[in-house]
Amino acid sequence: MDELAEFLSNARALVVLTGAGVSTESGIPDFRSPGGLWTKYDPRDMTFQRYVESAEVRALSWAMRREFFATNPQPNDAHRAIAELERAGRSVGVITQNIDGLHRQAGSTNVVEIHGTAARVMCIGHRPLYGEPQGCGWEAQTSWAFKLLEAGNDDPDCPHCGGLVKSATISFGQAMDPRSMHHAERMLNEADAMLVVGSSLQVYPVAAFPQEAVQAGMPLAIVNREPTPLDRLARVVVHDTAGPVLAAATKTVV
Ligand code: NAD
Repeated sequence: MDELAEFLSNARALVVLTGAGVSTESGIPDFRSPGGLWTKYDPRDMTFQRYVESAEVRALSWAMRREFFATNPQPNDAHRAIAELERAGRSVGVITQNIDGLHRQAGSTNVVEIHGTAARVMCIGHRPLYGEPQGCGWEAQTSWAFKLLEAGNDDPDCPHCGGLVKSATISFGQAMDPRSMHHAERMLNEADAMLVVGSSLQVYPVAAFPQEAVQAGMPLAIVNREPTPLDRLARVVVHDTAGPVLAAATKTVV
């Protein structure tokens, strides 16, 4: 813990890369932990291609989305500790794989949601190919879709062009949003240290970021309950629960 506190206090421009593990203490299951979403849903059904092809998969995706919002998740100590570093005047950028919006809700302002947001929905076109949304540009709050679902329409269409509507998140097999990737790369270039929190570091291209950071000479710290494939690259590794670890480590820094 002392090493992590020292690591944070030495960082002049910190980039924090977070995964689903930073939000499990807010009651949102991750993918790969015991009891995680992959014990309930088949990841092979959750690809962009399957979403386009199958009304059944779309219905399942909407059901998952409603389940997600029904719990009304709130930021936890880990989100708050990261936001607190920024409030204390430190330069902190957050690249998150999460779609839950909890970093911003906790007060972080410099956030890239690299896998999109569950808060919005978008038109992806009638039959987009190659994992690329080809919508008309229409977007709305997710509550728009929930109203239609509650009214019995379990596959809402785009009100402008009749295309398919999907959560504004990046599914497996879906192209990354180039603007978010660009923003994340800029954050990486401006940083001098990287902290990873709650990610199995198995989902690419995000799992490449810590490797790029280390290659660029940045020190890396990882806080994750379980070992990750990149622990060997890190200067500091803590295998424990993010909330208490970050609350304690940042207390001496802010
Ligand atoms: P992952 O499920 O692959 O790995 C999560 C890691 O976090 C695991 O190694 C686990 O041991 C660790 N972990 C769980 N709870 C923790 C805690 N409280 N403290 C410390 N470590 C903890 O998740 P990932 O690496 O983010 O990649 C999978 C994908 O999951 C991402 O693309 C993300 O978009 C998506 N996802 C997001 C949410 C969300 O928005 N909250 C939820 C589920 C999945």
